[in-house]
Amino acid sequence: MDAMMEEQHLAMLQAKLSSLPPKLQNQVGSLATVQGYEMKPLQRQALDEIPVLALDAAVDPSESYEISFMRVLVRWFKHEFFSWTNAPRCEHCGSTETKTVGRADPTPEEKHFKANTVEVAACSKCGGQTRFPRYNDPAKLLQTRTGRCGEWANCFTLVCRSLGYEARHVHDWTDHVWTEVFSDSKQRWLHVDACEAALDSPLMYEKGWGKKLTYCIGFARDHVVDVTRRYTQSFEELLPRRTQCSEEELKKAVSAIDEFALDRSLVPYPATVAVARRALLSARAMPKHRRQHTSPQRRRRSGAPVEMPRGAPSGASLGPTMRQRRRPLSARKRAWNKQAHHSPRRGTKVHRTRRQRYGRGWPS
Ligand SMILES: [Zn+2]
Repeated sequence: MDAMMEEQHLAMLQAKLSSLPPKLQNQVGSLATVQGYEMKPLQRQALDEIPVLALDAAVDPSESYEISFMRVLVRWFKHEFFSWTNAPRCEHCGSTETKTVGRADPTPEEKHFKANTVEVAACSKCGGQTRFPRYNDPAKLLQTRTGRCGEWANCFTLVCRSLGYEARHVHDWTDHVWTEVFSDSKQRWLHVDACEAALDSPLMYEKGWGKKLTYCIGFARDHVVDVTRRYTQSFEELLPRRTQCSEEELKKAVSAIDEFALDRSLVPYPATVAVARRALLSARAMPKHRRQHTSPQRRRRSGAPVEMPRGAPSGASLGPTMRQRRRPLSARKRAWNKQAHHSPRRGTKVHRTRRQRYGRGWPS
């Protein structure tokens, strides 16, 4: 898409969001971060840092590969690649006895790597001061390899994308960030927290940390979704804490940014691909127990009307189901089926499978 059209889309989105609380309007920035991970040179730069062969060798073969690899990956990221920084090591004497004493404005270079704030730490040994720019540029983070949860989740989500995992960057409004990856074997999104090397333990914040969660919003390259329900045992108890905006406003903002995300990421694809992909993603976003009853395939087989995905052209159709597409049986096979089913011997009390009863294959 050319830059002008993109600007128009962004302007339209901003107009849609303009009546909403500023916190919701700011969510557009989070989408930009995630869509930035799609730059191929950036992904290559990340891949250069990942010891893929060594990680692959550590995979536990008794588990599904993608999940086992993720387990190994997140451990490597936490224990070997990234480090945690509360206050930076003193750049004058090398002491770690430093304490954050204030903030400074970023220099143009720091700004270039998307540092909006710079923390200043004072050394208790030599009295010198060290700057700690909070970079948001994932390419820069591949070099600095340090920070707090913001830097960790940012860089780790890039690592996941560069390895081909569908990934979401999840923002918890009570001040934490983590990653989600889509598991093809489990057919659902898995929680991954790089800071904790935790995989698929979404209740760790509420139960383990005693966090009082409010909003958790997931940003992927082509969709945005409120994922709060995955992280709480009781959404009803959490709901009264959601006071930063009305549920209606949140829905409006999420769906507007979601639409924008899809447009921006899939415009180069033909509309049919974009529509099918949207349907798949919406099915994935639904909890599994609900999905079973409402999957488009089931509904189509049962003859129920199919809701077309958002953005589908009017009059669009999903086409015949797999069953409808099956080649009709030949007259000979139909006759054989008919005879077999209506055979008087069918009343026998002994249960036998079709194969036991009729042998393999069709009669010649
Ligand atoms: Zn010092």
